[in-house]
Amino acid sequence: MRTLLLADVVLTMDAHGHIYHDAGILLEGSRIIEVAPRPRFEGVAAERIELGRRLLMPGLINAHIHTPMTLFRGLAEGYSLLTLEGWFNGIRVWELAMTPDMIPPAVSVSCAEMIRTGTTCFADQYFHMERITPVVRDSGMRAALAYGVVEVGDERAHDWALRAAEAFLASLRDDARLTGWVGPHALFVDNPLPTIQAELALADAYGAGLHIHLSTSGEEDAYCLQHYGVTAVQQMKRIGALDRQMIAAHCLTIPEEDLPTLATAPFAAIIAPSACMRAGRPAAPLKRMLAEGVHVALGTDNVTANNSYDLFKEMQILGKLMAYREGEPNPIPAKTIVEMVTTRAADALGLADRVGSLEAGKRADLIALDLDAPGFAPRGAQDIYTALVYAISGLAVQDVMCDGRWLMRGGRLLTVDYRAACDALEAAFAELQARRAGLKPEERQVR
Ligand SMILES: [Zn+2]
Repeated sequence: MRTLLLADVVLTMDAHGHIYHDAGILLEGSRIIEVAPRPRFEGVAAERIELGRRLLMPGLINAHIHTPMTLFRGLAEGYSLLTLEGWFNGIRVWELAMTPDMIPPAVSVSCAEMIRTGTTCFADQYFHMERITPVVRDSGMRAALAYGVVEVGDERAHDWALRAAEAFLASLRDDARLTGWVGPHALFVDNPLPTIQAELALADAYGAGLHIHLSTSGEEDAYCLQHYGVTAVQQMKRIGALDRQMIAAHCLTIPEEDLPTLATAPFAAIIAPSACMRAGRPAAPLKRMLAEGVHVALGTDNVTANNSYDLFKEMQILGKLMAYREGEPNPIPAKTIVEMVTTRAADALGLADRVGSLEAGKRADLIALDLDAPGFAPRGAQDIYTALVYAISGLAVQDVMCDGRWLMRGGRLLTVDYRAACDALEAAFAELQARRAGLKPEERQVR
């Protein structure tokens, strides 16, 4: 069965930068057959869906999040989650009181909020991934799911987490929408060398990538210089960690001389500006990274630190932060910023052959924005990328399709009952608070 979606504007994000007016996207099942102006489809046999005053574009990709942490939204105010100490005392103390049953409602709420604001694909990193996966599958979203490994001196965590990660990777082997990754929370500082080596072997055995945090406060560089006499990036290169697909969140303090090493690796720096700004950390040197050829993408990070999944907001924050950092207007072109949640993000997640742009052969992951939403006028004057980054919000998104299936129509979620998920999350949170109150004093403060 073929479907033809017709709309006022189609922003393809293809390599030629095609933007079509009064155009259509012809779909066969979950695959895009053709994207072209309306006259091209005259006489084509297909179910025609007239979307009218909508802008069709690729579904957005959030390249770094932790879905279960929606459970902690609002709890870590006042802590910098980008230092090990802040993360311990702002998050880890709550994680000690968390049970796996609290995870599904947090993931449901996360998926619903992402779909509502135009995200169709995300890169997640957390433990208890076996509780996350079914919820993501039911949501209809696409995801790169990394099994989190945090050792932090607990030798038992090494065996337990790696065994769980392996079972998880095996379970996703032929999944159409979900890919399994290995998720060391951070190399060196909370995953020691033997654990890293086991993680690399595991990634190789399953053809999986690595999803890490890197260079949030210089802790890895200090550790590696002290123990190995080189920077963290050079030590990663030395042990072969840069030979396989890797996404690394933040990358705030990477020494400039290490950027060429990263540029030649299958590595992408995931910039998460809100989390950095809220933690009072300096902005990532994105302009320099791009000039050096480092692959980059955008992520919101967890909503304890952000506190929103809206990638349109995040694009705007990134653009403004970079202008502020560089002391010049538009140091990062708006089109590049949109690429960081579409084509560049797909590339970072190893999904460039499937998603990120609207063109023949790719999967039907797309969103439709209401062109009458606040911010688009006057359409004659505004560059379309600039409007998307600076003028609108994710609430302009009205329709969302992932892998050929509608996840939202006319602003109504079709795969997640948001109200029920929020109610379940409130109940989980109440239980979390009760369990935390019941912890012994020595368990309540990790450091
Ligand atoms: Zn993170």
